[in-house]
Amino acid sequence: MKLMKHSILNVMIAVAGLSVAQAADSPVGYTDTPEIPGQKWRVHDANRPAPKVVTPGTTFSHSAPAPSDAVILFDGHDLSKWKTGNKPAGWKVENGYMEVAPESGSIQTKDHFGDFQLHVEFATPHVVEGNSQGRGNSGVIIYGMYEVQVLDSFNNPTYADGQAGAMYGQLPPLVNASKVPGAWQSYDIIFETARWEDGKLVKKANVTVIHNGVLLHHKKEYSGPSLHRQVGTYNKQHPPHGAIHLQDHGNPMRFRNIWIRSLGKYDE
Ligand code: MG
Repeated sequence: MKLMKHSILNVMIAVAGLSVAQAADSPVGYTDTPEIPGQKWRVHDANRPAPKVVTPGTTFSHSAPAPSDAVILFDGHDLSKWKTGNKPAGWKVENGYMEVAPESGSIQTKDHFGDFQLHVEFATPHVVEGNSQGRGNSGVIIYGMYEVQVLDSFNNPTYADGQAGAMYGQLPPLVNASKVPGAWQSYDIIFETARWEDGKLVKKANVTVIHNGVLLHHKKEYSGPSLHRQVGTYNKQHPPHGAIHLQDHGNPMRFRNIWIRSLGKYDE
């Protein structure tokens, strides 16, 4: 009887210990997710090779002034172009950047955009906390559906389709061009919207992504909206324009110098 009590206690401790460990560690991949159509890999495949590391050049100029026809979405001073649902955006603004505030939620542009060229600069936390998807996670989520992953991918093992610059859950970046934690980095994203005609999909959304001056994707199609552990499909028609979202994933990520150029189609 005494022995039995002891073993039950041990089992309880073991279970409690496991849940603590799981809370602290983010999985670095999965083997039980659906296969991605047209690829030989599963969503967030643990066995998919990590993109090769490329050290970005130092000549790339950050915080250069925006082109004359760009819409400035954030100039370092205020969040007047952003909101969270129907409320004002609650992120902190200081020293020329915005920072995700605890429990503040993701933010989105008030305006909608169709096809566009977007410039975004971001910095992951200088002090490294967490691992895998729990470390320096945010995202540029186009229309709130198509995510270009933002992550601290500097010596941070995680599933390939969740690396910095990944088309989340679908396609890893061609290379890993991440800078050290705390350094300012840039994305230049060219996006073409999905289109339907008479209820039929005639064009999938596609994206080109340049990270710190290095090409990650060239006109690659999304298989549908970005999902966690699932394959997104175009089963639901959406307008050919939408807001740009920046994700609150619980990490104090910083953003600055955000501007967008409309490519002249489908803006609202
Ligand atoms: Mg993310």
